[in-house]
Formats: sequence, C-alpha cells, structure tokens
Amino acid sequence: MDRRRPRRSRRVGRPPRPHRLRGAGNPGGDRDPGAARPGPAAPRADGGIAHSRIARSRTAIGALLMDQSVLAGVGNVYRAELLFRHGVSPFRPGRAVEAPLWQEMWVDLVMLLRSGVRMGRIVTTRAEDRSRRRSPVQRDDAHYVYRRTGLPCRICGTEIRTEVMVGRNLYWCPVCQAV
Ligand SMILES: [Zn+2]
Repeated sequence: MDRRRPRRSRRVGRPPRPHRLRGAGNPGGDRDPGAARPGPAAPRADGGIAHSRIARSRTAIGALLMDQSVLAGVGNVYRAELLFRHGVSPFRPGRAVEAPLWQEMWVDLVMLLRSGVRMGRIVTTRAEDRSRRRSPVQRDDAHYVYRRTGLPCRICGTEIRTEVMVGRNLYWCPVCQAV
C-alpha cells in the first residue's frame, strides 16, 4: 500500500472528500478546537475519548461509528472496512468493544485516513488480499466489503451481506465478523 509509484493520469477510484480527509494528514489543521467530537480528522483528538463514549453504550458499534457525537469524520466506507479489518461484527454493542481492541482500530483508522489523503482515494485492502498485484490498485480490489454485496469474502469466500444501518448501507462478512 505504501509503495511509491508514479501517479497515472487516469483516476481509478472515487475522488477524495477533502473536507473529511484533510485534517488527518495535517496536524494542527483542526479548525474546531472546542469540538466535543473526537475523531481521526481532528488530529489532537484522543481515541480514548471516543472509547469512553463507546464503552458506555449498548448501541451497535456500526451505528456508533456513524454518530457524530461519538466520532467525527469516519464515513460509510471506513465504517465498513474498519470493522472488517478487525473482525468486528457491526452489531456488537459498543460496550463489548474492549479498550485494547478499540485502540488497535483507532490506530488503523488514522493510518487508513492518512493513506487516503496520500493516495487521493480510499484503498483498504492489504496487497496479499487483492486478486491482482498490479499498481495502481484496481477499483474492484480496493475494499474488503464495501459495495461487495453477494461477492465472496476475500478471506473466507462467504457472500458479503448488506443492510441499512443509520440510513446508510452497511456491508459485512457474517463469518469473519461473526461477533
Ligand atoms: Zn469472510
């Protein structure tokens, strides 16, 4: 993912959403220092603040990730991909997401957001999980579950499922993300 290659002129992925992504790669760019919304887009934010809210909640983690009062700037693609990368069911109650797990998820999310800024697109797959090794990453190789309904999971082959959660389509693998 980090290999530097000359950028091709043809864009394959979706355009970035700079209002969401810029802060992650721009420490000090937080324009809302009084914000009560910790998020990876707010560089000074501490993942522990978000966890203190998640840990008190019976709400599903897939819904909490979209709650702007819990966490700012995650978005629907990262919600689905982050949960998959950590094998977490979107339906797991927030209070069942243990602090060490959340810390790993937080670090990963910050890394993914920074990578998104650097690449100008969202790629969440590890090289070894893609069907092709070619660079740039092909569009249909960029995600684990997002918009992959009915396609086989890259890890276990189970069909990826989808349903609406908090007004947006949620995607997950029922086997890799069983609990
Ligand atoms: Zn799977």
